[in-house]
Amino acid sequence: MDDRPLSFARRLRISAVALILAWFFLPGLRDWIPLWVPFLAFAALELNFLLAGLREPRLPGKRGRIPQESDIEELGGEEWLEPVIVEVDGQDVWLPEGAETEEDVEEPRPLRRRGPLLGRLEGVVVVAALAFVLLVLVPKGGWDGLDGDDRARTEALLSAEAGRIAGHEARVHCDARGETVGIVQHADGVAEVGGRNAYLTPQICFRLHRLAFEDDEGAFSQTARAIAVLAHEAWHLRGEDDEGVTNCYAFQSGVSLGRRLGLPDGTAARMMRQQLADNATFARAAPEYLVPGECREGGRLDLAPASRRFP
Ligand SMILES: [Zn+2]
Repeated sequence: MDDRPLSFARRLRISAVALILAWFFLPGLRDWIPLWVPFLAFAALELNFLLAGLREPRLPGKRGRIPQESDIEELGGEEWLEPVIVEVDGQDVWLPEGAETEEDVEEPRPLRRRGPLLGRLEGVVVVAALAFVLLVLVPKGGWDGLDGDDRARTEALLSAEAGRIAGHEARVHCDARGETVGIVQHADGVAEVGGRNAYLTPQICFRLHRLAFEDDEGAFSQTARAIAVLAHEAWHLRGEDDEGVTNCYAFQSGVSLGRRLGLPDGTAARMMRQQLADNATFARAAPEYLVPGECREGGRLDLAPASRRFP
């Protein structure tokens, strides 16, 4: 590293990283600037540095009268400033000051200077790390990309729908953090059994938002899952605590729920039938989620025994 004051380019680079970090820690910024804006600016800056580094020859350092310290180091060290001539095996050999045989000569120290390219590759590594964060760690889907009004009306709609199933007032929260729902528990939602509060992952909420407000049916199984999760948590709010029974009721309520959120009736029913069909596979990892045998047309858990359709 050189010890000159920070160059303009370096300050620019630090500002870009600071902006990206701020984006992560100041939620307000996310509403104003999509992350790819500072990211692209930073990537462009780094690319510019890299190309400049490839094009320009290395600038010589400050030159004065020779020999410079860097020259001495490059040539083996200060001992070589006044070499002596010594006869070795009948031949004259130059050795550094004080040496009598070739064994006394220290291996020249490896040069410590970093190539100019290496310094610039640093930036490329940072870009790669940020790209990883942006593309892999930041979940896609974009609940965070919605503005406050959209989030509020989505939560209000989902709360109303959950309340309808629960039979009492409900409050659906979409800003659930990792400790409540999400990666840690491998669940897309949690709810207070018999209570008022349910928590969904932002991904589930975003899918339901797209369906309800943007007329976007989305991928069949993702939308089916999102509807089933909301219905599932709503049944917990209603007081059901058995996961298998809750699932069974959720798949049935999911048909009308899906329809109210904008799906054609047939699609909503097919989605919930798919959820029921996939239940055994999902429940292999978590058996408590397996629907009981009575979860069938005309079974004890059939909410509408009169209908010929299940769910
Ligand atoms: Zn549950």
